[in-house]
Amino acid sequence: MNFEQIKKNSAAFLPTYSREEVCFVKGKNATLTSITGDKYIDFASGIGVMSLGYNDHDWNYAIIKQTKNLAHTSNLFYNEPSAKLAKMLTDLSGLSFVFFGNSGAEANECAIKLARKYASDKYEKKRNKIITLKDSFHGRTLATLSATGQEAFHKDFAPLPDGFESVASGDLEGFCEKILKDDVAAVMVELVQGEGGVNEADKEFIEAVCSMCKSNDILFIVDEVQTGIGRCGSLFLFEKYNICPDIVTLAKGLGGGLPIGACLADFKLEKVFSPGDHGSTFGGNPVVCAGACVVLSKMTSNFLKTVNEKGEYIKKELEQFDEFYDITQQGLMIGVSLKTMEVKNLVSLLLENGLVVLSSKHNRLRLLPPLKISYREINKGIKIIRSVLEQ
Ligand SMILES: *Cc1c(COP(=O)(O)O)cnc(C)c1O
Repeated sequence: MNFEQIKKNSAAFLPTYSREEVCFVKGKNATLTSITGDKYIDFASGIGVMSLGYNDHDWNYAIIKQTKNLAHTSNLFYNEPSAKLAKMLTDLSGLSFVFFGNSGAEANECAIKLARKYASDKYEKKRNKIITLKDSFHGRTLATLSATGQEAFHKDFAPLPDGFESVASGDLEGFCEKILKDDVAAVMVELVQGEGGVNEADKEFIEAVCSMCKSNDILFIVDEVQTGIGRCGSLFLFEKYNICPDIVTLAKGLGGGLPIGACLADFKLEKVFSPGDHGSTFGGNPVVCAGACVVLSKMTSNFLKTVNEKGEYIKKELEQFDEFYDITQQGLMIGVSLKTMEVKNLVSLLLENGLVVLSSKHNRLRLLPPLKISYREINKGIKIIRSVLEQ
C-alpha cells in the first residue's frame, strides 16, 4: 500500500486518534524512516516505549528465537521467559511478587484490585478509597480513568467506578484530611507526571505521604509506567526517593516495543490473591517476556549513567533557547515550557523538519528519546529545534 491507500484504509478506525501526516516504515537506533523515504530523529520513542531504540540486535534475536520455538501457551502452564523476567524484576526492585498484563492500564487495574482486596480482607468493607494526585494519568480503562485526576478525561463516561479521589500534588494538609477518615485503602502516585506535564512531585511531600501511609497501613502505589526501566536514569525512579512502595506498576519501556504491563507487589501482599482472583490471557506471553528480559539485562549501572549524562546534555542544549523555560529533566524524561508558542504547533513544525517530539498538559513539550540515542542523533535533533525556533 502507498501512503494514500494507508490513509484511506485508516478511515475504518474509530476516530480516537488525531494522527500526524507521517507513516513510518523502519527505524535504526533513534532514527526513523517514513514511507516517503524521509529520515526523522526520534525524541519520543513511541511514547516512551522503544527504550533500546529501533532494530536492537539482541532484542530482535531474542524475539525471533522465542517466536520460532513457541509464541503463546497461556497461564495454565509454566513458561521460561516469564519466569526469568519475574525473577529479574523482583530481584532488581526489592519487591517480592509480580503479575503480568499487557499495558499500563492493566498493570494499574491489578494494583487497584490488589489494594482493594488487601484492605477488604483486613478491614472488611470499611477501607476502599484510592487517593491519587491532580493532573495524574493512570490509564483509559474505566477504573484507571477514575483514578486519573483530570476531569477532562472523565466527562461523557459516567458512571465511573466509585472510590477514587484526588488531591493536588504538594497539598499535604488536604492529603492528611482524606487519610484521617479511615476509609482509604491506598495512595497511588506518579513521581514525575508524564501526560500531566512532566511535573516532578516534591520530594518531601512524597516522602511524607509515603511515611503516613506506612504508619496507617495504607498501601503506597507508585505508577512507574512511564518513569520506570531506566527512563529517569535509575532502573526505577522510586530509588531516587527515600520511600519503599508496596506496589509498583510498569509498562511502556519494559517490553522494548511489545505490549507488556507488570504489577510488582511487596511481600506483605503475598496471600491477598488466590487462583481465580485476577488473570490475563496474554499476560506473561513468552515472546514479549523474552524481549523484556533483554531490555532489563541492558540496564546496568554504566548504561544508566549514560542515560543521565545524555539527559543533562540535552537539558543544557535546550537552555540556550529563549523560547524555553522551566525545563525539568530526570534522565531522558524531559519537560519544557514554552514562552510564546502553542505546543501543538511546535510539535507539528518540528515533525515537518524531521524531529519527532511529544506534548503534554500545560503547554509543555515532552521529550522521551530512546535510551540508546547517540550524541550524533541528539545533536541532529537539537539542530532541528534551532532551525525551527530561529527561522
Ligand atoms: C501511559 C501511562 C499509563 C497507561 O498505559 P497504557 O499502556 O496506555 O494503558 C498509565 N500510567 C502512566 C503513568 C502512563 O504514562
